[in-house]
Amino acid sequence: MSSLFPALNEPSAGRRPALCFGERALTYAELAAAAGALAGRIGGAERVAVWATPSLETAVAVVAALTAGVPVVPLNPKSGEGELGHILSDSGPSLVLAAPGDELPAPVGVFERVEVDVHGTGAFTPAEVGEESPALVVYTSGTTGPPKGAVIPRRAVAATLDALADAWKWTGDDVLVQGLPLFHVHGLVLGVLGPLRRGGSVRHLGRFSTAGVARELGAGATMLFGVPTMYHRIAEALAGDPELAKALGRARLLVSGSAALPVHDHERIAAATGRRVIERYGMTETLMNTSVRAGGEARPGTVGVPLPGVELRLVEEDGSPITAYDGETVGEIQVRGPNLFTEYLNRPDATTAAFTADGWFRTGDMAVREADGYVRIVGRKATDLIKSGGYKIGAGEIENALLEHPGVREAAVTGEPDEDLGERIVAWVVPVDAGDPPGADALADHVARRLAPHKRPRVVRYLDALPRNDMGKIMKRALGDA
Ligand code: ATP
Ligand code: MG
Repeated sequence: MSSLFPALNEPSAGRRPALCFGERALTYAELAAAAGALAGRIGGAERVAVWATPSLETAVAVVAALTAGVPVVPLNPKSGEGELGHILSDSGPSLVLAAPGDELPAPVGVFERVEVDVHGTGAFTPAEVGEESPALVVYTSGTTGPPKGAVIPRRAVAATLDALADAWKWTGDDVLVQGLPLFHVHGLVLGVLGPLRRGGSVRHLGRFSTAGVARELGAGATMLFGVPTMYHRIAEALAGDPELAKALGRARLLVSGSAALPVHDHERIAAATGRRVIERYGMTETLMNTSVRAGGEARPGTVGVPLPGVELRLVEEDGSPITAYDGETVGEIQVRGPNLFTEYLNRPDATTAAFTADGWFRTGDMAVREADGYVRIVGRKATDLIKSGGYKIGAGEIENALLEHPGVREAAVTGEPDEDLGERIVAWVVPVDAGDPPGADALADHVARRLAPHKRPRVVRYLDALPRNDMGKIMKRALGDA
């Protein structure tokens, strides 16, 4: 058993910056004191929920709970009351941690409330808890169905952060800038606990903006973490913003994850800054699985290779492993390793169904491997794999091709039942100019020319915007009713 955050115990780290949210910041010594004080108040609780606004309070609350050995359920403050009610009745926290002044909606307000004092002072004495005990219960993003609570042990948090340190040469000298929500793994585990485990610091933007990114990278931040919608905004802003281009050019590492980064945005950022965004691939249930290495080749459309300690394989529908690294044979990604969750809370059947008999986790993501082992995700089994005319076609590459068309702002591809083909390819397109959208034939020809004739969309539907969740992920479930 070892500490998740060694720097909090080290007097020599005391004056180093740890957390910064806008004008509000804490050093390691201040964070240890505040977390120590709060840990003293909540120690012994069975489980606590955190009202996870993008704030210093959220970071202190989570560190305090981990110090007390109490599992944390982060709540999305933007969730509707129905979803909050579901998560709270499912997870049954003993109390809710919130910032002074936070207004809590009805389903949250019924719980005992403990206010987080970021300037509290208490002795920092981490509880003695085993590595397998739960650190977090994080609800999945709900992209493919209702969110499930993934129970994430302390061992997985430590393993994934240390694997990323190795892959990204991530040290205590790094300063991370991010503007991610703090109720999912990306913003919370990678984006807050990650820097703290290294003894480095995070500068959170509160609300993501390209101006904030330029300011922080310009002031010496070394890494940026974001989701593809943020990199899209950066790609759009770069054209008229030489300061932003200069700032990005200075960063040591630009990292994207949570969804596929469109090739078009990757290329535009590379052209304007000389820097390539590296992609990593992970899930609530597995934390991080693969990544491009720092200094490695950031090939657009790929998520790199398995992280140290992570075993990864692709399997056919009948469960047999695919051994070919031919860039063509599509299989489901399965993973095994110390990064995995323990179970879905209160869902023993879902937990059992998620694992093979020999302990591999079925991710539900489909991919190919290139000759050198790089993983290229083609999409999710449930929504992105289209079986048309005897082919298995991934939605992702068609979306990438559509996004390269100058008249297309956003694109999503789905399959629909078709008498002849089994399924036909449907393209959902948000045009750059709603008054003069590119025609369906022009778009279909564009895709067929770039990819192959059988990947031609048969139907094109135009929308004003794609339905997205708070991580910017496209909600394909909602497209049918659009
Ligand atoms: P739910 O499981 O509730 O339907 P979700 O799968 O979106 O929602 P998360 O655990 O937040 O919830 O997201 C994990 C998924 O995000 C992965 O299974 C994968 O489909 C996608 N993903 C993450 N990183 C990448 C990436 N770099 N490229 C492509 N897809 C990614
Ligand atoms: Mg999922």
